[in-house]
Amino acid sequence: MICVPITAKTNKEALREIKRCCAFADFLELRMDLIADGNLSDLIAAIRSVSDSVGIIVTCRKKEEALSAGDLPQAKHIAEYSKTEKMDLLKKAIDLKADFVDIELREGSDAIAKLRNYCVKLGGVTGLIISYHDIKKTPSVAKLIEIFQQAVENGAAVVKIVTFAKIAEDNLKVLGMIPYAQKNSQKIIAMCMGHEGRISRIAAPLLGSYLSFAAQDFCAQSAPGQLTVSQMRQINNLMQDHRLSNKSEAVLSAGQDLQNYVLLGNPVAQSLSPLMHNAALQEMGIDGRYSAFCVSNLESALCGIKGMNIRGASVTIPYKVSVMEYLDEVDEDALNIGAVNTIVNNSGHLIGYNTDWLGLMLMIRELMTVKDKTFAIIGAGGTALAAVYGILKEGGLPVIVNRTIAKGKSLSNKFNCPFYSLADLGKLKADCLINTTPLGMYPHTDQTPAEAAMLTGYKYVIDVIYNPLKTRLLRDAEAQGCRTVSGLDMFVHQGAEQLKLWTGIEPPRALMKKVVTERLGKIEG
Ligand code: NAP
Repeated sequence: MICVPITAKTNKEALREIKRCCAFADFLELRMDLIADGNLSDLIAAIRSVSDSVGIIVTCRKKEEALSAGDLPQAKHIAEYSKTEKMDLLKKAIDLKADFVDIELREGSDAIAKLRNYCVKLGGVTGLIISYHDIKKTPSVAKLIEIFQQAVENGAAVVKIVTFAKIAEDNLKVLGMIPYAQKNSQKIIAMCMGHEGRISRIAAPLLGSYLSFAAQDFCAQSAPGQLTVSQMRQINNLMQDHRLSNKSEAVLSAGQDLQNYVLLGNPVAQSLSPLMHNAALQEMGIDGRYSAFCVSNLESALCGIKGMNIRGASVTIPYKVSVMEYLDEVDEDALNIGAVNTIVNNSGHLIGYNTDWLGLMLMIRELMTVKDKTFAIIGAGGTALAAVYGILKEGGLPVIVNRTIAKGKSLSNKFNCPFYSLADLGKLKADCLINTTPLGMYPHTDQTPAEAAMLTGYKYVIDVIYNPLKTRLLRDAEAQGCRTVSGLDMFVHQGAEQLKLWTGIEPPRALMKKVVTERLGKIEG
């Protein structure tokens, strides 16, 4: 339902606005703090004379919360009511049978209780919207929950939470309150102000926010970032044409049928995971989407995953380690490795897994047996760690080779295996060489971690890089007669193992490999 705030400067102009807006609004909000000489009886009568069905909200915003209007023209004519004047005005709205009166949580429990009792005394026709505005920022999720609980305890018919979004993730925090309220069978209006908050004004009604606020036109905006009614209607119409919203808002809000997944990282623009996962989801007949999110605040993003019932997430650079502190549970392999690349959302309980090591091992198993074989692993970062862990688990013998000695030694000490500096790679003998450094990755395709002459002793050479599919290392290794494999299979397997954790269904690995290979072919030209 769309609510249009009446923000005219004078009673006369407000009466004109009412006549115009009744035609397209589900609710009108009489902003008595903005209508300088507003006559409440006249204004309510004017609405009722045009329509019985348009709902009426009477609001007399506290100046400090109304200042969210910022440099909007309405900011210049905010009237300041004393607490008594305001209470009298809201009581009058109850006398006049407005559908709702809006009172700020900051007015305190006593004032709210008086108003609530007055509503009850007059037959309970009018409900209380208990509102909270933060015009400068978005508080933490814990604080938002506290605000919500206070509003409920004070008898809100509808809880209203509106904060200022400084960054995109603030929307997730506030939107997460909508399903939270629904679980508590509580009506809620929740959205963010400001340019960054505009997306929440579109998403909130889809998630089940009781009302969304839209201006008649840009001149009548009552909060920064507010869309116009025509924009809101256009978006709603577009959403109705969209496959997802044909299933009704209820499905979106409850997230019962849709299975949505996300990639959390920074940057994510070049990631091939959305292409691969969406092809797999479609083939598996799962109604859902996988989308990449460039995240700057990990904690907020994880709150959003819970709040919006996102079923699972992939985690990539730079969050594979830091994400662990925000999860409810981490599985044993991921704990041992010390990194998580997969999250399963089990009805709000977030469990972390690591499928990188498994992806790598599945790839190696297709090439060779692991038991009792020696593996020279170049690199000592996250992928090297996953490789050492998997190889040891399957009875292989990893040897670490790294540029930075301290980092290499630290990994070798952790897993009690030998270490060589990169400069000494030539002195090492092993069955298989695995590159886990980015050396040779597009666009630096002329780079290699090991010169061709050093590759003669290896039967197998593996590169975790998959862009390009054939790195300089692999080309040199093939020329030396080694059997080689690129990181593409690891990428496909780690992604497939994610899908298996999320859905319990075996994903179409061949298709996943095909779509990524085709895309890489186009990239490589
Ligand atoms: P990371 O944690 O940053 O570790 C990178 C390692 O590479 C470090 O040990 C670093 O050595 C070494 N290194 C970087 N630049 C080097 C250079 N110029 N010369 C010598 N050594 C260098 O990275 P990661 O997460 O392990 O990722 C590494 C690679 O694996 C990336 O290319 C990534 O795309 C790929 N990867 C592929 C898959 C897949 O599915 N195929 C999955 C995950 C990762 P220092 O310790 O000396 O800094």
